[in-house]
Amino acid sequence: MTGCMRMQRFGLAVLLMTALATAQAAPPDEAGTSPGPSARAPVLAIHGGAGVARGDLDAAGLAEARAALETALRAGHAKLQAGAPALDAVKAAITVLEDAPSFNAGRGAVFTHDGRNELDAAVMDGASGRAGAVAGVTRVRNPVLLADAVMTSSPHVMMVGEGAEAFAKTQDIALVDPAYFRTERRWQQLQRALEAEKTPAQTAIIEGDARPYFGTVGAVALDVEGRLAAGTSTGGMTNKRYGRVGDAPIIGAGTWADARCAVSGTGWGEYYIRAAAAHEICARVRLRGDDIREAASDVIDREIPEAGGDGGAIALDADGRVAFPFNTPGMYRGWIGADGVPHVAVFREQDFPVPDGAAPLRP
Ligand code: ASP
Repeated sequence: MTGCMRMQRFGLAVLLMTALATAQAAPPDEAGTSPGPSARAPVLAIHGGAGVARGDLDAAGLAEARAALETALRAGHAKLQAGAPALDAVKAAITVLEDAPSFNAGRGAVFTHDGRNELDAAVMDGASGRAGAVAGVTRVRNPVLLADAVMTSSPHVMMVGEGAEAFAKTQDIALVDPAYFRTERRWQQLQRALEAEKTPAQTAIIEGDARPYFGTVGAVALDVEGRLAAGTSTGGMTNKRYGRVGDAPIIGAGTWADARCAVSGTGWGEYYIRAAAAHEICARVRLRGDDIREAASDVIDREIPEAGGDGGAIALDADGRVAFPFNTPGMYRGWIGADGVPHVAVFREQDFPVPDGAAPLRP
């Protein structure tokens, strides 16, 4: 045997041993969800809308909203810790926020001009590029779950109104009486908006608290396999009419996820649609290599206001960096990392340490 052949055999043996050791260190489970050697520290970030200001809520209302944010973070974190895909964490967190009356999504959604609750939602899976969305549904308890069903169980991306609800009946999606969504607080906001628009200075979509939006909910997640996902759910804007649809269910406007970046927006939807805001943030990360915090802040805090809009967003990259830009007095927001401790903030001056991508790889 020549020296060269001996070297080749030795190299082959080293390769085989390395492959065996790797396989033993991280045996894949049946569902293929167990973290491999490249497993990452999971991160989940959520928002409950950028329309909150001091004076909107009493202490009890604020405590209720904060508790719901923490419950949503824990629900999503449980999925991530179990090795579930990022999208499962997004759905788990948003479902909690839709069920909580504090936020403008699901129960507690704002009212249309005609006194109805018309709900929009979307999800996007960054790993596969698949997306699902629904708009103008009135009887779906958790619109985010219907958006997910559109993505996973239909050849389509978006369904609206009665058609979406007919599809919901073919899936295992809970339908409720429209009265389920009604809260007195939102009803009174509509009454103030209707009163306000009687004065000529007011535009068609203005509500009683002088802000045009109230608190869409959203989530972005990074799972242990490094997959990203995003989701958003909303009742839209108080006093909306003519079947108005905002940015939340429009893929690329209020919701986007790809392999490097996930975004969920909240704000004056018309401006987010025109800016393709969520996609714009991620395009800068993907094509220009921008840091996610710079990209998110430039789009949300410069581009949108320059065009005349306002609002906020949550953005997360594949290294676990999170950005929470907003240019309003407050944005319900929070995040949870591998240690399972929820971090929640509401107003501008209440800040918290934000994950900067330096989190250690999962042991
Ligand atoms: N972006 C939502 C919409 O325009 C409203 C919100 O964020 O609260 O429908």
